[in-house]
Amino acid sequence: MLYQAIFKRPRGLLYCHHTLLQKQVKRAIHKAETNIEMIDLLLAVQLNIGVYYTFPEKYESVEKEIVTQDIKGKVKNMLREAEKEINNQVFGGQQAIQLNPVFIEYWHENQWPMYSDKNISSAVNADRVWPMLERQKLQKNIDIYLVLFAEEIAYFDIDSNKMKLAGWVFAKGNKVAASKFMQSEEPHQSLLHELGHWLNLEHENCTLDPLSLDINVMCEKKYPGKIYFTASYKKAWRDFYERG
Ligand SMILES: [Zn+2]
Repeated sequence: MLYQAIFKRPRGLLYCHHTLLQKQVKRAIHKAETNIEMIDLLLAVQLNIGVYYTFPEKYESVEKEIVTQDIKGKVKNMLREAEKEINNQVFGGQQAIQLNPVFIEYWHENQWPMYSDKNISSAVNADRVWPMLERQKLQKNIDIYLVLFAEEIAYFDIDSNKMKLAGWVFAKGNKVAASKFMQSEEPHQSLLHELGHWLNLEHENCTLDPLSLDINVMCEKKYPGKIYFTASYKKAWRDFYERG
């Protein structure tokens, strides 16, 4: 139970996190002897989120620079909010997990693979985006890829055996896509859900917290309120942190 060491760490110990970009930067505890006392240096686990952003033709003009700044600002804010929730709710406010945005590039495609049927008028087909993502120059040091769309996205749902619209889609491994990203409100809540899948969590029955009326984070349904962390969700992060 190494993480407990954080909460119990006596005053005067140093806490630091490094900024090395490694595929999986290990959390480590170094003990350095001084002439007064042992000093523990606790390192945060760094997760590098590789961001591909795509935006519609109309933005590819003089506005492009401004829009790019908007997107980057929104992504940075989302990661900061998600990180804060995790560290506050799971690690007692310590900086145990750090989410770093890595802006790869504007991903331009002349034609995104689209899907439509009698229920879905038009949506990017997420299932066909994943092989395209594999063919992109994937960078080292990225833990999770995040592809942002301005359009709706759809994916094949095994349970209902049909294509479904989705706000966010997680693909096996480490790929996430978000639809209508610039319009999404509180996107960090959706990201926290997808990070749960990344930590191998499945959907759980939807339950409301009786006091706050927040919905559990691994509930599949969209819900207007906020999310709350369940014991299993917190455990997944603690286990991840301990593995380093
Ligand atoms: Zn889900």
